[in-house]
Amino acid sequence: MTNQSAMNGISRREPHFVLVPLTAQGHMIPMVDLARLLAEQGARVSLITTPVNAARIKAIINRVKESGLPIHFAELKFPCAEAGLPNGCENVDLIPSPYYYKAFFEATNHLREPLARYLRAQRPRPTCMITDMCNPWTADVARGLRMPRLVFHGPSCFFILCTHLMQQHEIYDRITDDFEPVLVPELPQPVEVTKAQATGFFGASGWEKLRSEALQAESTADGVVMNTFDDLEHTYIDLYRKVIGKEVWTIGPLCLYSKDLDNKAARGNKPAVDHQRLLSWLDSREPKSVLYVSFGSLVRTRPLQLIEIGYGLEASNQPFIWVIKDVERTSEVDKWLSEGFEERVSTRGLVIKGWAPQVVILSHPAIGGFMTHCGWNSMLEAVSAGVPMITWPHFADQFLNEKLLVDELRIGVAIGVKVPYYHLTEDGPSAAKRDDIAKAVSRLMDKGVEGEQRRKRIKELAEKATSTMEGRGSSVENIARLIQYASKHGNNDSDQEEE
Ligand code: UDP
Repeated sequence: MTNQSAMNGISRREPHFVLVPLTAQGHMIPMVDLARLLAEQGARVSLITTPVNAARIKAIINRVKESGLPIHFAELKFPCAEAGLPNGCENVDLIPSPYYYKAFFEATNHLREPLARYLRAQRPRPTCMITDMCNPWTADVARGLRMPRLVFHGPSCFFILCTHLMQQHEIYDRITDDFEPVLVPELPQPVEVTKAQATGFFGASGWEKLRSEALQAESTADGVVMNTFDDLEHTYIDLYRKVIGKEVWTIGPLCLYSKDLDNKAARGNKPAVDHQRLLSWLDSREPKSVLYVSFGSLVRTRPLQLIEIGYGLEASNQPFIWVIKDVERTSEVDKWLSEGFEERVSTRGLVIKGWAPQVVILSHPAIGGFMTHCGWNSMLEAVSAGVPMITWPHFADQFLNEKLLVDELRIGVAIGVKVPYYHLTEDGPSAAKRDDIAKAVSRLMDKGVEGEQRRKRIKELAEKATSTMEGRGSSVENIARLIQYASKHGNNDSDQEEE
């Protein structure tokens, strides 16, 4: 033990994880949960963040401090100016227009040196890095410090596996028509997708360099950590393990880390709705009667489509909570909401303008359905709460997540959108019309046999999700194995020279 670590009472064998999330809500929220789970099981954790993101998760940082968990939130300056980004644009949901996407990833790339400097200065030196799949630049940093590096995959294993197989079989190179249906090779049953639906991360044209760096960083990683659980997609987890030939730790659903209401409400941004008002609104509703409508943190629904959703919800006659993001509130949308819509639905509809405490809402007994964009965190949160879904995928992993949910697990009703959001034009027709929306809502909330069976299936999955995160559940055990791995293979010598 070094003098410094002896003074701190820290054993060299105690693993110290450094977690490097992509600064996007859907990537940071589960990493923060992972940090707390690792720390609760005895590891030290440094979670890399930036000033704007740290300010957003202040409530969580304060809770961690109060609890005494050994987690350090390390703030690195995000190089906005160097990359040509507007000041403060430190999270994907703050990117003002698609024009800045490349600059954002360029800026994350510039974090390489500051991260390496920060880690070199730590005593004892962190032993093992867990880094988001979208941060391939971390590979050099871990290599330089001779630290094992595990890739954290935020999406479903099903998506990761399908895109991996399509890549391996060169389907992306062979198929020239983005809308031609193709079979994903090697799967135990047929799964058909178009290239447009399954490009995956950095799959669009112009992103080849980042895509190849991400693939390279994945292939040289020491293992993979996934926010999923075995009972949900074990066939695909087993197959993925086989095709990559590496250790895969399934440690989800991470959302179940937050058990009490305050912890649930502290996830992500500060909620835009008063806690008591929300709870008393929900408490006044019949069990399983309310539809929750939200499309995650990144989708920006266009004004005409938003208004169409509103008409669909109105036509459905179902109680609902509908989340409209601040960035979606154009003057047209605000005018439409205030000049009639909100009044017409006032006895059964609640519109949240801004950030919603999603896990609080989903886990309330009044919620009976969730219209979702199929972001993996949202899906896991709904599965964990036993809430069936209407699936409306937009991009990235969402179309494949929908297939898992609707075709395989049979816990969702597809709204029927087949074309990714980026292929739609600003003033083109809506991807889903009010009638499609009203029909999907009535099918999902139906009290008949089909609806009951769907509810029964998801209730069983929710029970499995809970037990996997409790006692000796598989995800709890996998977290323990991950800590053992880092103790055994991690770089525990803080005085060791780098290459
Ligand atoms: N979320 C939330 N309130 C909102 C919007 C999103 O709490 O108003 C959370 C949601 O619970 C989930 C995450 O943000 O944990 C979004 O991740 P997901 O993978 O579902 O979608 P993404 O935003 O990455 O598209």
